[in-house]
Amino acid sequence: MPPTPARVVAVGTHDIRFPTSRELDGSDAMNPDPDYSAAYVVLRTDAPDGTEGHGFAFTIGRGNDVQVAAIDALRGHVVGRSLDELCADPGSLSRDLVGDSQLRWLGPEKGVMHMAIGAVVNAAWDLAARRAGRPLWQLLAEADPEWLVDQVDFRYLTDALTPGEALELLRRGREGAGERAAALRARGFPAYTTSPGWLGYSDEKLTRLAVEAVAGGFRHIKLKVGADPAEDLRRLRAARAAVGPHIRISVDANQRWDVDEAIVRTKALGEFEPYWIEEPTSPDDILGHAAVRRAVAPVKVATGEHVHNRVVFKQLLQAGSIDIAQIDAARVGGVNENLAVLLLAAKFGVPVCPHAGGVGLCELVQHLSMFDFVALSGTTDDRVIEYVDHLHDHFTEPVVIRDGHYTAPTAPGFSAAMRPESVAEFTYPGGAFWTADLARRNAGNRKERAV
Ligand SMILES: [Mg+2]
Repeated sequence: MPPTPARVVAVGTHDIRFPTSRELDGSDAMNPDPDYSAAYVVLRTDAPDGTEGHGFAFTIGRGNDVQVAAIDALRGHVVGRSLDELCADPGSLSRDLVGDSQLRWLGPEKGVMHMAIGAVVNAAWDLAARRAGRPLWQLLAEADPEWLVDQVDFRYLTDALTPGEALELLRRGREGAGERAAALRARGFPAYTTSPGWLGYSDEKLTRLAVEAVAGGFRHIKLKVGADPAEDLRRLRAARAAVGPHIRISVDANQRWDVDEAIVRTKALGEFEPYWIEEPTSPDDILGHAAVRRAVAPVKVATGEHVHNRVVFKQLLQAGSIDIAQIDAARVGGVNENLAVLLLAAKFGVPVCPHAGGVGLCELVQHLSMFDFVALSGTTDDRVIEYVDHLHDHFTEPVVIRDGHYTAPTAPGFSAAMRPESVAEFTYPGGAFWTADLARRNAGNRKERAV
């Protein structure tokens, strides 16, 4: 009897939450107390070598259970799939998930359901790269351009980018790819860091971390703004004084402002020469971003971490709304849709500087930027990946930063696997950390009542 082909036999989901709000790590004008969380998914298989695929959606605490439920709703599309077929064409899974007509009503192609699709599709790519024995960036960079084009859903895009144009961009991107891959392995990909700039940090902590970042090789840092105007000025003045005139400082308002306010507030920071203003207003406001961009130049406008899908990115580019496209590995429908956004950005000549941080977003998105450099845009000029220095030790293949650069991953896969000990400890609410935390709170409440 011929051996039965290996299949996906289970989709495991986990609600993982880290208590980051207690140190104000990740605090900004819109999100004062995030508990960085992952709705983590593991595609289990019956392959003899036990290969699994890992992916996740990133959330900031409450609602992570809703995100997990959305992933659970996709299980029927995944269990039973042949690994050979899935890995040969992850786009087929992506199309089936996006095309589920009843679940599509919950979007379409936006929000919790779409992020769930992204988590599952990314897990399929992790599986494909592991089976191919390559890090994902390399798998993508060495893939046949025609196959890559087939991975992209061009629906709603063809007025801006046709499959033929995409193929041309990818074929051109392959010229010199070998030398660029060697350069990437030698030097890595430039990073910038947000670690000094969380809104909840004191000026002393901000200044100390900014100086440390520059000493560590970073040439670009980012500060959160958008709360009190006088505080924005004071913090930016302190940061500029700490790092000097030659380090780029970007600022991030996390959607806090209306359009006119964004223009006034950004211009008010002009004397400290911010490099870009990030998410000045609603991520859905394409024309608002265009108005801000016209008004605040030469300060650049960056957005994308909350952009739902390739269609909104298309319009931001068509309307001249952004100088920088900030893809996020876990916001849209996974690698396939991010390929579409990278191709759109290449067509419009707009640099991609990914959003990262959170839980595992650095681990994932580095692969997409590295592919972009090696086999699409062909450059790292004015391109940087965000870096935040927490929660990496919960991953089996954490990012490695050297002299302000992301080191090219060498392990097969998408760097998405979490350590089993971390999953056990931080599963909410039953993991060891949260169980002990609840016991501490209950004891505290009893004491309070006794007083
Ligand atoms: Mg941001």
